[in-house]
Amino acid sequence: MTKIGVLALQGGVAEHLASLRRLDGSDRASGGAGIEARRVLVSADLDGLDGIILPGGESTAVGKLLAEGGLGAELKAAVAGGLAAWGTCMGAILLARAVGGGETHLSLMDIRVERNAYGSQLDSFTGSHPMAGLEGGPFPMVFIRAPVISFAGPGASILARVSGDIVGCRQGRLLATTFHPELTADTRVHAMFVRMARGQE
Ligand code: GLN
Repeated sequence: MTKIGVLALQGGVAEHLASLRRLDGSDRASGGAGIEARRVLVSADLDGLDGIILPGGESTAVGKLLAEGGLGAELKAAVAGGLAAWGTCMGAILLARAVGGGETHLSLMDIRVERNAYGSQLDSFTGSHPMAGLEGGPFPMVFIRAPVISFAGPGASILARVSGDIVGCRQGRLLATTFHPELTADTRVHAMFVRMARGQE
């Protein structure tokens, strides 16, 4: 059983849990060990996790909640200690070492992001684009008031670009996407993250 947490202070939590539930069904059906998904609200929820998803949401609000309680420091220590982490949109902002248009939060990943790089909520958009490490063709990417990854350090490999902008990066057991796979029926990025959490890739 692979245990995946979803940081549940605010944002697209239910959607990630639903994607993990769907993936668990297909994993078991194909003879896999299965996936147990849980909400992470307090430090104790981190116990025994193999991976954590930091969902989309509002980084200013979640950053404040992380800093006020002890959860931010515990989460940072857990990820620095080897817990796999995947940030979608706001989550990528939380992971970044440098943030344009905002503050840094967990500062765990060697990337710089620019918040709200495509404009306002109304400038949200979708498109299908290839992503390294995914079989089966282009991935449907949903961008909602997304940041852009403006710099990826030497330790971070670029997995996807849209119009030249970096939208997906990986650094060891850390994954950042500026788009929202949990808002589609396609579970391939969730499957990739579960394989990372299992140490399979
Ligand atoms: N605009 C949000 C922020 O800067 C991120 C948007 C999202 O996660 N969909 O925090």
